[in-house]
Amino acid sequence: MIAIIGASLAGDMAAATLRQEGYAGQILLIGDEPEVPYDRPPLSKEALVGDAPENRLYLRAESWYAEQGIELRLGAPVMAINPTAHTLQIGSGEPIKYEKLLITTGARARTLPGMETSPIPAYVVRTLEDARHLRAGLQPGVRVAIIGAGVIGMEVAASAATRGCQVTVVDFADRVMSRILPPDLSAYMAELHTSHGVTLLLDAGSVSLTPTGISTTKRGDLEADLIVIGIGVVPNTELATAAGLAVRDGVIVNEYCQTSDPDIYAAGDVTRYPNPFGPGDIRSENWKHAQNQAVTAARNMLGKHEAYAAVSGMWSDQYDVKLQTVGNIGTGTTTLRGEAKSRKFMLIYQNEAGVVLGALGINQAKDMRFAQGLVEKRASVDSALLADPKQDLRKLGA
Ligand code: NAP
Repeated sequence: MIAIIGASLAGDMAAATLRQEGYAGQILLIGDEPEVPYDRPPLSKEALVGDAPENRLYLRAESWYAEQGIELRLGAPVMAINPTAHTLQIGSGEPIKYEKLLITTGARARTLPGMETSPIPAYVVRTLEDARHLRAGLQPGVRVAIIGAGVIGMEVAASAATRGCQVTVVDFADRVMSRILPPDLSAYMAELHTSHGVTLLLDAGSVSLTPTGISTTKRGDLEADLIVIGIGVVPNTELATAAGLAVRDGVIVNEYCQTSDPDIYAAGDVTRYPNPFGPGDIRSENWKHAQNQAVTAARNMLGKHEAYAAVSGMWSDQYDVKLQTVGNIGTGTTTLRGEAKSRKFMLIYQNEAGVVLGALGINQAKDMRFAQGLVEKRASVDSALLADPKQDLRKLGA
């Protein structure tokens, strides 16, 4: 029997891959939330704006799991793993025996002191339940204070502004999405938000909750009717630590997605894994990584020996902008493809040898797929050709 702890994207993908690869044994997919596995990227976007039915967020119809012979155990927090006995414990029930185990417990949102007792509604955005509460609160004219100008913060800012709220985003960083974007793109996205009426209070010092809103050490106090906290995530490593697995800000896995116990694998946000494109190990918090690493982990649990080497990337939809990145961005030489001030351009990053390291696109979904191909091939391309939008990226670097 293969057990998977964590019924979100990575866990779901791993279960599906096990069946696709012909595994005929028992699969147990365990989740602590009561929901059928759902997609998280829409929680800060479509789930807050628009009228699409909530069941559009589910990764699959509930009937699919039974059809595939995948046992879904929801609302069932795993209390402990015993690697020696090859068992896991759900609640106070009998220990469940596994042959191989996959940990896909993901990450949880960081919170701020006083959030639980705040007289003003204060939410993080990580679960469907969080998004339901937030959606109900985003009424026209409501003063929304968002703490954290990261991806969650800026996506919620766009959703709230679109809903007609008065939005202020506060961060101790001096630019938006500073962990992901180079400075020129932070400026571009900041301008996009201010043009939609969002107020940015950056370089604000320490931020704390007050009975009437929030207080900052460098930019004063702010009254609010609703507070959103998007200040990063913490990997859910407690089970792995208690089981004696190697953990360092993430469950440590090798390139085959195997933890320090040979029968326990891990995938997704919770892992720290060897960086296929650079020295050292990393933890990635994005959708593509969760999906791709889960596929590799599932195949390796069935005896394959494939190294995980997917190119990282992310996307974010804010207003009419689809921002995408692939590979390593913000380093090496930068080539602009298109008009920098427009709503459609690409930045391509290369090393001294002309090897394409990464790309960032604004409303360039098609070309970003081809740019990913260049990064995967580690193609060396003349930057003058990359800069010319008339050149077909598919044909470059062949
Ligand atoms: P994030 O992208 O790490 O951004 C958090 C921001 O909050 C950073 O700018 C951080 O500044 C700031 N911050 C941290 N502590 C703070 C504090 N006490 N007061 C004020 N600002 C503070 O995290 P996130 O936006 O919360 O997103 C959570 C996770 O979901 C991330 O892994 C993200 O990649 C993922 N996500 C992805 C997408 C997507 O791919 N489209 C969308 C949403 C979320 P410093 O950097 O200076 O610490």
